[in-house]
Amino acid sequence: MIDKVNIMSSLNDFFVKGGIHEFPIFCIARQGGRTAVEILARAVIMEGKHAYIGQNLTGLRSMGANSIVIRFAQSEDIPPGFNVTNPEGALFMHEMFIRNAPGSSGMSQLTPGAVVGRLNSGFLMVCTSKAPEELDYPVPFEGTVATVDAEAIFTKRVNLQPAPSGITALGLFVAATGDLVSLDAVKEAILAHDRLSKKVREVNVLCLMDAFDQAKVAHNLKLPGRPVEKAKATTRFSLKPDGELHLMTQSMSARWRTKLPICDMSKCTCKECFSAYSCPEGAISWTDGVIHFDYNFCKSCGTCAQECVFSTITMGDVDQAMQIEEEKGSAS
Ligand code: SF4
Ligand code: SF4
Repeated sequence: MIDKVNIMSSLNDFFVKGGIHEFPIFCIARQGGRTAVEILARAVIMEGKHAYIGQNLTGLRSMGANSIVIRFAQSEDIPPGFNVTNPEGALFMHEMFIRNAPGSSGMSQLTPGAVVGRLNSGFLMVCTSKAPEELDYPVPFEGTVATVDAEAIFTKRVNLQPAPSGITALGLFVAATGDLVSLDAVKEAILAHDRLSKKVREVNVLCLMDAFDQAKVAHNLKLPGRPVEKAKATTRFSLKPDGELHLMTQSMSARWRTKLPICDMSKCTCKECFSAYSCPEGAISWTDGVIHFDYNFCKSCGTCAQECVFSTITMGDVDQAMQIEEEKGSAS
């Protein structure tokens, strides 16, 4: 019997003791989410804190959903990496990101579904025209739920599609989280962000203030969750020319690969798979102590096999791998 190592619980303790605030943030491409998170980091630094930004820009995710995590704290001892360890809440800059939840425990990958699957409390912030009570959130949630129609606010001032409403969404973040960062610091950070023209910075300050004023914030709200179909480990979005997001069911690379990862679970040594966090496609999940590969998105790079220090993952025959994964599915 292997004595399993609980790396996740030590990491969680580290976050709590270090007073580290962690927020995953999801946006669609061209929405300006990355710039917004840089501005948020600049604002917390202006207030005397330290900040770290991790972004998952690899593979198909860079085409549809940009997944970013920001951590900030008084101490400069902030763990790096684009996994999600101890989120205080999450900001979804498009409502579509909250429709799916594969479920996850411990640390999760920086994908919308994995974060939704574990976010049951804290701050749930969604850019939508709906009120907090009307959100169709897939898992039960209790805490602060906040919404704002950031796209409508931005397009009222500048008619662009898709609306670059990422910075506008920071008004929702400030309204929901209260004293974590001040509105004045975010305004100042926007005006100091000289990668944007002066005119764009000024428009964004106005949009930020509108979003702050128009944000609907409900504290101690209980959302019931809804029964969901057993979801895939990963969800991908593609942005079509009409500006709409569409769910993708398979990656292009699935058509040409010749090997797939297979795990011999009898040799696994971790309480939750650590090598999963190195997968550039977010194709590995861990549910109830069982590793799952989403072969619709695995591109056969072999990184997971390289990263597992106990060599329990090997790259094997495609048909054999598919069969093993199918058997796991039918057993659960
Ligand atoms: S595959 Fe490797 S890293 Fe993942 S749980 Fe097993 S031993 Fe740990
Ligand atoms: S081989 Fe492993 S690391 Fe590479 S995409 Fe597939 S599951 Fe992810």
